[in-house]
Amino acid sequence: MVGYNSRNLDGIQPSYICNSCLLIFRDPVQLIDCGHRMCQSCANEQSGNLITCAECDEKTIREKLLIDRGFRNDMQTLPIVCSLCSWTGILNIYQNHLDQNHQNPTCDSCGQKFNSVNDLDRHIQYDCEKTTVDCPLKQIGCQEMVLRLHLAEHYISDQDQRVLVNFVRQMDSILSTNMNNNSLINSNQRTHFDVNELEKISKTTNILLDNTKTLADELERLSIERNRIHNTLQSFIQESSILKKSIEEQNSSIDGIKFNEQISEQDLLSVEQKLNNMNLDPYDGTYLWKITNVQEKIG
Ligand SMILES: [Zn+2]
Ligand SMILES: [Zn+2]
Ligand SMILES: [Zn+2]
Ligand SMILES: [Zn+2]
Ligand SMILES: [Zn+2]
Repeated sequence: MVGYNSRNLDGIQPSYICNSCLLIFRDPVQLIDCGHRMCQSCANEQSGNLITCAECDEKTIREKLLIDRGFRNDMQTLPIVCSLCSWTGILNIYQNHLDQNHQNPTCDSCGQKFNSVNDLDRHIQYDCEKTTVDCPLKQIGCQEMVLRLHLAEHYISDQDQRVLVNFVRQMDSILSTNMNNNSLINSNQRTHFDVNELEKISKTTNILLDNTKTLADELERLSIERNRIHNTLQSFIQESSILKKSIEEQNSSIDGIKFNEQISEQDLLSVEQKLNNMNLDPYDGTYLWKITNVQEKIG
């Protein structure tokens, strides 16, 4: 399960938005150790006995989650515009409207059908490969629509890095101007920051932190990749030196074979020579028989 989606999500006070599913809290629970909240169902989706806060990353033991009834009651009168039709009402009766009017909703982006609005919302928030969303850095200058599934890649794109760098520079100059004017600001002027504005800034800061984490993760991945390539290269170098050696050995044995060949060639030549010499002796011709004292022998 995820929280409640609504068409007026942007207008809902940020303190009522779950940082895990980015929708309106459904049965909010409070994490005792840091005091932040999340949907009960979003906490249930985490495995293990430690629940990580989606807002500050602090971990709370599962048994220490407090069902926040007071907070849930406060939310019952939130004004809602149905995410699937033009119905307007309050959160208290929204689920009833959804159950009665949107039993088999379809994803606008990819056409997949679902058995409940909650399944659809879950699909849109986590699974749909076609749903595009505003870049979460829209408020500080990125106007791009991004496929939800590609958000993490988009965060580390040149585009968002440039937006972030500009934002940090702006903050820096605002801060240094404020430091200079600090003596002029009295406590009355300070209160003109309204709570919503502060929450927005805090959300933006969280996005920045997320980005930094994504970058750090990416750096770690790159460094692992670098080590892997380094190792592969090393073993490649080793293998190629072994290969080189074996080629050298083969070459020298080829040389040996060549030498033997030359010797055999010489042997052959000398055998041929001998044969030729032998051929010099004539085997045909007239043999003369010399018989002495023929007279005596006849007589
Ligand atoms: Zn949630
Ligand atoms: Zn927290
Ligand atoms: Zn509706
Ligand atoms: Zn879809
Ligand atoms: Zn962006």
